[in-house]
Amino acid sequence: MTRLDSAIRRLTAQRDLLDWAVQGLAPTGLVLEIGLGNGRTYDHLRARLPGREIHVFERSPAAHPDCYPPEGYLVVGDLFDTLPSFIERHGRGSAALIHIDIGTGDEAANLSLARRLAPLLEELLQPGGILLGDRAFPMPSCRDVSAETGVPEGRYFVYRRE
Ligand code: SAM
Repeated sequence: MTRLDSAIRRLTAQRDLLDWAVQGLAPTGLVLEIGLGNGRTYDHLRARLPGREIHVFERSPAAHPDCYPPEGYLVVGDLFDTLPSFIERHGRGSAALIHIDIGTGDEAANLSLARRLAPLLEELLQPGGILLGDRAFPMPSCRDVSAETGVPEGRYFVYRRE
């Protein structure tokens, strides 16, 4: 598989899973996009969820100019600084959907980041809430439901809070 093939597969899985999650989304609960990047997945989510509030997290905003959230919905800073105060403000168990795409090419760093972030993400999810991630997150109160989505195993990771 070429790197182009691999990028296409990853982006296809990302889009298919966003569509899958949106279809079954609970009518209440926050939607969080963690890692704005270019704004591609944020743009997809907002197009699929018109009228729904989406909070976006990014430490160095540099998205396509058309892909910024409205004022008050971009939380700028490192996640370890911004997520705890967000949880204080909005409450534990306040998120119906979290999409997190923050990995780099450094697998050791990715693993350590996922381990440290997992408790915060778990705290944010409401019962039945879904997390879509670009990597595995160890969250004991969540079930790995990736196999239910039809996306090939290991390409993207899907959890449902019990
Ligand atoms: N899904 C996005 C898209 O479709 O355009 C791409 C996201 S990009 C791969 C990852 C983003 O996560 C980067 O913009 C990076 O700055 C952000 N990020 C990584 N670690 C972060 C952290 N600890 N706190 C806040 N943002 C972080």
